[in-house]
Amino acid sequence: MFEKAVLLLGGNKGDRFTLLKAAVEAISRLGELTLSSGIYETEAWGGVAKGPFLNQMVEIKTTCSPFELLGFIQQIETDLGRKRDEHWGDRTMDIDIIYFGERVIDSPALQVPHPFLAERKFVLVPLAEILPDLTHPIIGKTNRQMLIECQDRSEVRVWEC
Ligand code: AMP
Repeated sequence: MFEKAVLLLGGNKGDRFTLLKAAVEAISRLGELTLSSGIYETEAWGGVAKGPFLNQMVEIKTTCSPFELLGFIQQIETDLGRKRDEHWGDRTMDIDIIYFGERVIDSPALQVPHPFLAERKFVLVPLAEILPDLTHPIIGKTNRQMLIECQDRSEVRVWEC
C-alpha cells in the first residue's frame, strides 16, 4: 500500500545547496517524489546553531512504513556527513517526517505529525506552499491556516542560488 509522507530537509553546514540536492535525490529513491517546495533560507532556531539553514519540503509516495522511513532518512543524514552531536546544533543535513498520511504516531522514537510544526515558520512556509489545504489530523486546521495564525517572527525568505 502506498502512503504519502511529507519531509522537511535542511542544513546549515557545508555546501548547503549541494547537500540539499543530494538529500532530495536520495529521498527520491525511497518512493515517487510527488511534490517539492522552493528552497528557503531560514534563521537558526533554538539558539545553538549559528548559521542560517536552507530548507525544502518534499512529499513522497512510498510503500515504506513510518519506522522504515525514519531509519532510511537517518541513514541519509549520516551519509551526508551528519554528526549527532548537539541537539539543534549546526548540521549538514536534518530530515524530519512532518506528516505520514493522516497517521498520528506518538512513540519515543517518532512523533507524527511533527510536534512543533504549528509553531515554526520555517516548517509552515514551505508546507503551505506545497500543501495549503491539507488538514492537520490533531489540530484540525489546514497548513495555510496554521501559517496565518503562527506567532513565530523569525525570517524565512526564498533563496536564490
Ligand atoms: P533531530 O536532532 O531533530 O534530528 O532529532 C532526531 C531524533 O528525533 C531522532 O532520534 C528521531 O527518533 C526523533 N524523532 C521523533 N519524531 C521525529 C520525526 N517526526 N521525524 C524525524 N525524527 C523524529
